[in-house]
Amino acid sequence: MRVSPEIESLVPYKPGKPIEETQREYGLTKICKLASNENPLGVSPQAVAAMTEELKNLHRYPDPSFTELREYLSQKWSWHKDHILVGNGSNELIDLLIRVFCEPGDRVLMPKKSFIAYGICAQAARVNKHEFDLDQDFRLKIDDVLDYIENDKVGRDKILFLANPNNPTGTYVNNDEMEELLDVCGGRKDLLIVIDEAYNEFVRAEDYPNSLSYGRKYKNVMILRTFSKVYGLAGLRAGVLLGSPDLLDFVHRVRNPFNVNRLAQKAVVASMEDQEYIKKSQQLVWDGLDFFYKNLKEMGLPYIESQGNFVLFNTLRDANEVFQGCLQKGVILRTVKEYKLPTYLRMNVGLPEENQMAMSVLKEVLTEVKTI
Ligand SMILES: *Cc1c(COP(=O)(O)O)cnc(C)c1O
Repeated sequence: MRVSPEIESLVPYKPGKPIEETQREYGLTKICKLASNENPLGVSPQAVAAMTEELKNLHRYPDPSFTELREYLSQKWSWHKDHILVGNGSNELIDLLIRVFCEPGDRVLMPKKSFIAYGICAQAARVNKHEFDLDQDFRLKIDDVLDYIENDKVGRDKILFLANPNNPTGTYVNNDEMEELLDVCGGRKDLLIVIDEAYNEFVRAEDYPNSLSYGRKYKNVMILRTFSKVYGLAGLRAGVLLGSPDLLDFVHRVRNPFNVNRLAQKAVVASMEDQEYIKKSQQLVWDGLDFFYKNLKEMGLPYIESQGNFVLFNTLRDANEVFQGCLQKGVILRTVKEYKLPTYLRMNVGLPEENQMAMSVLKEVLTEVKTI
């Protein structure tokens, strides 16, 4: 079978190394995985209870309109239920947005060093991408974005993806910048602005924009949220797209009718109701980041202050060697080669004892790998 050049040259998404695989390969008993920005607390006990209760209904198809879940989210976020679409993780929604709103040869826009899924989904749909430069602190330069967008005479730019906060850098677009961007692009009929807020609940910056208010104001602003991070359901797959119903209607036509399973529909509500779990998850991340910053400073490794549950830091060495060294000692971190950052690693916050282990292992490995 022949496939298109786009599919043939597609480099698949490389997930963080699984714990089981690492255990097997290195014969380790104690492993800490800080590679996929997951919630280290485990699943909320309330979500476990809700799913256990739901097990007996699994012979029935799930509600294809996720009505109960939408009604819940609607009152939680003061957002009309017809403006909510749920997906099999936000990854599915990203894929759908591109397939629905772009034709082959169109372009999606994104900053450099942003979530790799945007580019992969685009390429799979034979859609091109344009990436905006970052400044030396890895922040998006809004003026460059505006210059570019105002000069698009051909009209092939269809979606601007903004991960806010961004993965893997942990940087964010602030209030003033968002305002400046949407003053120009808000309300346009030919360009969607998709704000991906996977890490929204971890943000501490005071000038972080309230995207829901922009979503209300501008019809072409859509917002993505996930239940994989603070809500601790990465393995279940659930994400949400917020946007105007006439845009969501096109997505509904394309999506799989049963894309969100029964357990997920129940667990999301239960997890969001578990305030204690959410507060604990947030505090864990904030304390863990501060702990990482202190240690990275002591090691003399530059890092970028993060608004997510992870930090990107410069090992000042071949990051692959540092990664391998840590792996052999049971700490799984994440390389970011695909983002053209060969000396950097990304590390998410784990449980306090995991963070401790990661820092002491990293300190050891740094003495074994020479700087470049
Ligand atoms: C983790 C992450 C997501 C979540 O993806 P799911 O498919 O919902 O698990 C979305 N966007 C970004 C930028 C992320 O880092």
